Amino acid sequence: MYPLRMCVVCRARKEKEELIRVVKSPQGEIEIDFSFKAMGRGAYICKDKNCILAAQKRKAFERALRCGLDSEFYEKLGEMVSE
Ligand SMILES: [Zn+2]
Repeated sequence: MYPLRMCVVCRARKEKEELIRVVKSPQGEIEIDFSFKAMGRGAYICKDKNCILAAQKRKAFERALRCGLDSEFYEKLGEMVSE
């Protein structure tokens, strides 16, 4: 059994089915990790438009993963979540 993971925005702990994993690879590339198994430092966010919007506003992933991200990244996250 997996431990619960925490959303970088609202800090809720959830099962992975309810979250999106973003990973910073050892090469420093930021990717959405559909497998939940990719190597590297990971951060999670709810499959929720509000959390994704808040993450962009607060630069939550930039802080969690110590990286720069463009709006395209957040658009991609948004596309993964239904209204
Ligand atoms: Zn959340």
